[in-house]
Amino acid sequence: MPMPHRTQMQVIKRRLKGKDGSARISELKLILNELPGIYQGPYGKIRAWVEDEIGRTNVRRSVKHTDSIAVRKEGHVQVAVVGMPNAGKSSLLRALSGVQTAVGDYPFTTLRPVPAVVNIDGIFVQFVEVPGLIEGAHEDRGGGRALLGVIRSADFSIVLHDPNENRAELQSVLREIEAAGIDKPCLLVLTKADTAQSSNSTGIFDGWETIRVSAKEGSGLDELRQRIAALTGLMRVFPRSEGKRADTPIVVPHGATVLEFAGAVHHDFAQKFRGARVWGASARFPGQNVGHGHVLVEGDEVELRRV
Ligand code: GDP
Ligand code: MG
Repeated sequence: MPMPHRTQMQVIKRRLKGKDGSARISELKLILNELPGIYQGPYGKIRAWVEDEIGRTNVRRSVKHTDSIAVRKEGHVQVAVVGMPNAGKSSLLRALSGVQTAVGDYPFTTLRPVPAVVNIDGIFVQFVEVPGLIEGAHEDRGGGRALLGVIRSADFSIVLHDPNENRAELQSVLREIEAAGIDKPCLLVLTKADTAQSSNSTGIFDGWETIRVSAKEGSGLDELRQRIAALTGLMRVFPRSEGKRADTPIVVPHGATVLEFAGAVHHDFAQKFRGARVWGASARFPGQNVGHGHVLVEGDEVELRRV
């Protein structure tokens, strides 16, 4: 005689309590085996619930897995570094940041997104190398969906291409990003500029705005830093006190006002200053008195007048 079905359900819930992922699935399978072979009525319902719960647990497990490759944001802006295996992503990040990542002659040296924060004149840019994006990624080939998720959550991307390789490779990467519905600013970086073929290629590549770099020789890196800084939409404004400019800038969006700058210096400041003096391109003359609404530009220096 099986136990009453209500009791049975309570027993099942108790057995599953605190179990997740594969532990939960094993327990569910055990329970399924132990259930009486009744496929109708209340016992049929319990059986169906257990079977469904196996499916739901599997989905939860894969969602968790997908989430786990997301990279915690650090710095002012996050930039995905995308490109076919061997395009030169790890080498470029290493040249930009000094962070040691795996570099190899074979594909898939890097299996997980690798973050590296680079200080570009006071703007902290977190680059995230997105490994092994291959054709069919938007249909989850090669774990592509999770990788595309990393690109989607970044503020923008740089797409790397080794011009010694077929352009079809580059096109398939761009197609995958497009097919995933990602529509973000994107800079095309032609890598390995020190090699013969790429030094012959023109600056314009299929109508894209491009930049040529060599991680090996360091060429093009300064220009790349400046182009990336421009794409962030951020600018640097330097606090000034007692006639001296601070070494460390405050990073604010283009078009920020004195009030927004004050809030970025310290959230209390927004209430606690009467006005400001400005030096730099936005000032009509050095040390101009300005109000809260004055719009600042890159490189300005601001002295807040406290209440
Ligand atoms: P990833 O798979 O996109 O991360 O590419 P890697 O950075 O691992 O580089 C793949 C291969 O290209 C390695 O053998 C690198 O040494 C080589 N490589 C990367 N950057 C350059 C470069 O600027 N010049 C040259 N000549 N080779 C490079
Ligand atoms: Mg790599």
